[in-house]
Amino acid sequence: MTRKLIILGYFLFSIMGIAQVYKPIDTADYLQRKAFLYNFNAHSEAFIKGLRSQYSGRTSSELSKIYKQLGTDFEGKVKNKDFVFKSEFDAVIKSLIERLRKNNPRVPKDLKILIARDNTPNAYCLADGTFVINMGLYNWLDNEEQVAAVISHELGHQIDEHTPKMILSIVEQNKQDKSTVQDINETTDSKSLSRNQKAFDILKDRIYKEGVEKRKQEMQADSLGYVIFKNSDFKKNEFVNALQKLQTFDTISSRELKVETYKKLFDLPKQSFKEKWLKKEDFSLYNYNFYKEKLNKDSLASHPEMVRRIERLEKIFPELKAFIDPEKPSEAYMLLKKTAKMEILPNYFHSEDYGVGIYTAMQFLQDGEEEKYYKSWLGKYFAKIYEARKNYNLNRYLDRIESKNQSESYQQFLNFMWNLSLDEIKNIADFYKANETLAKVN
Ligand SMILES: [Zn+2]
Repeated sequence: MTRKLIILGYFLFSIMGIAQVYKPIDTADYLQRKAFLYNFNAHSEAFIKGLRSQYSGRTSSELSKIYKQLGTDFEGKVKNKDFVFKSEFDAVIKSLIERLRKNNPRVPKDLKILIARDNTPNAYCLADGTFVINMGLYNWLDNEEQVAAVISHELGHQIDEHTPKMILSIVEQNKQDKSTVQDINETTDSKSLSRNQKAFDILKDRIYKEGVEKRKQEMQADSLGYVIFKNSDFKKNEFVNALQKLQTFDTISSRELKVETYKKLFDLPKQSFKEKWLKKEDFSLYNYNFYKEKLNKDSLASHPEMVRRIERLEKIFPELKAFIDPEKPSEAYMLLKKTAKMEILPNYFHSEDYGVGIYTAMQFLQDGEEEKYYKSWLGKYFAKIYEARKNYNLNRYLDRIESKNQSESYQQFLNFMWNLSLDEIKNIADFYKANETLAKVN
């Protein structure tokens, strides 16, 4: 009896110990993935069949070639586990779409929702009605009204069939200029595969990246999206608040990493901190104003025309002119925001952005957040950096220093990382991996 109690006590104790550390979203979703792919492929086939009956000759064959390629590309992402199939985001997103559909019969009924392991605040729709929502939206936006605003904008694209129209216009343009589509052949020969990939990347750029046509589509999606949004029960002005918020997004946080943080995290029992790790390359080239200017240009370039888009919306819908502070988020939103935040490190790990991941973990640790959790991630990331360094391909996972394009803090970080020797990296990895095991036992 006593022994049982002790075992039970130990069991409860260890469960509580683990419960303190966040457990990343489960990726053991093989069955869901399989079922999704089955339906996705069936839909794609039906869609392409439809195209074949709608168009004839070269247009028909080029269109089906492009859609097949896009389908294979997306299938690859699903297989690569770029999406999570079992998460608390699903139900919430579904209910947001339900709310948007209520007074908007044009919103399609059979949308399939996928949550992407991606920290950038973005969403997109595929031709077959698959709706992809990046977790990053929850990190960046203030409340669920703003998430609904982004979804409305995407629904605008979907209802107006922007992607199919864009693809059709590319195919028709190509009747004169055959280069792009013709380069893509269905082949399994590895030499032509890489050439194929290049041609396909160019094509994807033409479909999704900015151009005059694309800019027009963005504005149309804004107007139609806003109409959908305001017909529902959301706070109108959050639509503009969402656009404004997206405009200020940058992949690498501009928060400064202090020297004390390096010393705190990398002065280890078996390896004391070395000042030379922080040695920087010549900083006389560094010009803060130049960087600032570039930063502004970049954020406008990666969110093109956002200012103009907002101005245009306000012109068509004058009620949007008044600035209203963002709504206070609901508790449910804050919970998802917390999940999205805790998934930042697993997400960067998944996309193999090891350098950015360590930089982000160090920022969280500087703020004193979830110490056990972020330290265990440091162990995993440094183990990957060690492997890469050993195999001479660290370049792939860690940025090079570009004195004009990065913040001073990020350059300091890159200097530190590149200054570490192979053994030093291994010691850091081992220390934090041991830390991880310790966290599990406690
Ligand atoms: Zn858009």
